[in-house]
Parts: sequence; C-alpha cells; structure tokens
Amino acid sequence: MPEGHTIHRAARNQNKWFKGKVLEMRSPQGRFADGAARLSGQKLTKVEANGKHLFYRYMDSGDVLHVHLGLFGKFKIRKPPFPEPSPNARFIAWTDEAQLHLAGPTACELLTPEGMDAIKARLGPDPLVAGVNGAEQIHQKLARRKSPIGRALLDQSVIAGLGNVYRAELLFLVGLHPFTPANEVPLEKISELWDLSVTELKIGEKSGRIVTVDPAEMGKPSRAKLTRYERLYCYKRAGKPCRRCGDTIVSAEVDSRKIWWCPTHQPLTA
Ligand SMILES: [Zn+2]
Repeated sequence: MPEGHTIHRAARNQNKWFKGKVLEMRSPQGRFADGAARLSGQKLTKVEANGKHLFYRYMDSGDVLHVHLGLFGKFKIRKPPFPEPSPNARFIAWTDEAQLHLAGPTACELLTPEGMDAIKARLGPDPLVAGVNGAEQIHQKLARRKSPIGRALLDQSVIAGLGNVYRAELLFLVGLHPFTPANEVPLEKISELWDLSVTELKIGEKSGRIVTVDPAEMGKPSRAKLTRYERLYCYKRAGKPCRRCGDTIVSAEVDSRKIWWCPTHQPLTA
C-alpha cells in the first residue's frame, strides 16, 4: 500500500497539471459514472492530501471527490494523444494538456465538505501537512494504550500516512522496540519520532522512494547513489546484519503484518 509520501507526491504532481483547470471526466468502468457526470465541466480548485487520502476540491459547487488508493489503486498522468483508457479505469479526467487516469482505488466517492471534514477528523496528525506539531496529540492518543507502539504507528487515527516501511524504519531510528507498550513511550521519544517522521517523509515525497539510510554510513555521497539493497535499515532485512552494530535483524508479526528490528539498537526495556 502506498505510504503518505506517495499520496502527497501524487497531489503535488496532479496540482501541477490540473489545479485551477476545468476538467472533463467520465468513468470507463462505470462504477463512478454518476460522480463523473456531476464533476465533468467543473473547475478543480485544488488537490489536497491528508494521510493516505486525497481530496479534490471543487470550491464553486462545494463538491469534494475523495480517493483512497488502498492496496491496488494506481494513478497515471497521460499526455496527448491520449491512449484508450483501460476498461477498468474508475475515472479519467482531462484537459487538452493532460489526462488523469485512476484504476483500482478502495474509495472513489463524492462528498460534501462536511463529509470530508468527518474523514479528516478521524485522522491523526500528518507529518507532511505543514505547520503541524503532532507530538503532543500522539502522546495523548497513546496515553491509555497498552498495545505495542508497532501497532499504534499503523493506526491512521494516531498518526496519518505511515505504512509498514516507515513504521519499521522510524522505530529503528529512534531505538524503540516495536513491542514497547504505546503508553510507556515518553513524550520526548514521541517528539523525536514525530520530528524524524517529518524529515523522512519529506525526503520520500521529494524522491518518490523510501530511503532512510544515511548515505555516509554506506560510503556513498548521496541518497540517490544508494542501491535498492542499501536504502533501509531493517525493513525486510531479517537475518541480515544491522548496518550500525552488526547484530542480526529479527522479525515478528503484529496484527499479521511483519515488523523488523535490531535487538541491540531497539531493546525491549526502554
Ligand atoms: Zn543495531
């Protein structure tokens, strides 16, 4: 599933092509036919990302298009001459210059502004939304949770936008064992985790890929020079040596999703 950096990057890219433009729209697959008919010919004010959700704002009418890619959703931006859309495209939306093609989303629905606000209200702070300091909020949300911090970080109502890769990497970087009870993580540690999530997701949003490893540690001049095997500290590295201490990376499942950690860098007793 795409993590928050991918969604924010999609919003940035789509704004570049479609913000302030009148878009034609239709649903080749038919499942969004009514919504597409309603939005077609309207001016798209802007695209907003929040966590893993996208909101297309049509301020003149108040209409909001809500998209969540889920596991299989995929956008394409095509240039003219536009090829035939795939028959399972939920919608295509276009100007003379570009076409947005969406297939396979979990959610693609018309909302009122109130409906959008209700979704946003359920989300925790998003590290890629400017001007937010989420540490206090997250700390409060975790105050009564004895369940593992590794579970809490994937709960979108705690922090919005993290997926399995960032979860493992951020816990490594702050030295927290994934099974540490969430309510035992002190505010200073949550602050550190928040600040790192802002830094790391911004890097991911810019480059389009998740690279958490400090290139200097691999003897490389920049992140871009890291090979795909060098980009992460522990995600999918079970049995391999920790890049910093040489201990063996281990893994376990939390809610049937795997998590990886270094036993030396992330001891269970904080
Ligand atoms: Zn280590």
